[in-house]
Amino acid sequence: MEDCIFCKIIKGEIPSEKIYENERVLAFLDIAPVNIGHTLVIPKEHYANIFETPEETLTEMLKVTKKVGIAIKTQMRADGVNININNDSAAGQIVFHSHIHIIPRLKDDGFSMWYGKRPYDDGEMSIVANKIIAGL
Ligand code: 5GP
Ligand code: ZN
Repeated sequence: MEDCIFCKIIKGEIPSEKIYENERVLAFLDIAPVNIGHTLVIPKEHYANIFETPEETLTEMLKVTKKVGIAIKTQMRADGVNININNDSAAGQIVFHSHIHIIPRLKDDGFSMWYGKRPYDDGEMSIVANKIIAGL
């Protein structure tokens, strides 16, 4: 897609530090890493986000994420690894070409996560679960 920065990286029009590629997927270093070694895994075809990406491509992206994630954990001596996907700007998506973040984590690196900020009221959990299930 024209004007897509990741499509330009795939075509070689913008340089990138490649980690791995196969027929369908490319992994390269994020230019502004949360921690050193932060890597992005993208499909070579343009899809705006994870919901528009076909299942077979998602499977391939996850396989590459696992392979590269293990190498990052070992080689960067990470204490842990976050695998993260942002979808739509409200969720922090800036580049609208489907991608998975592999973020090496170090003890006390200060990168804060968002878990547990909004507890459920009594009885609310089952209402929410049923609402989501109705959309499956
Ligand atoms: P998002 O917020 O959309 O999930 O993440 C997009 C990521 O792409 C960001 O972490 C950003 O640093 C990275 N990024 C944006 N432009 C470039 C680029 O030109 N080269 C590389 N290697 N990464 C980029
Ligand atoms: Zn693209």
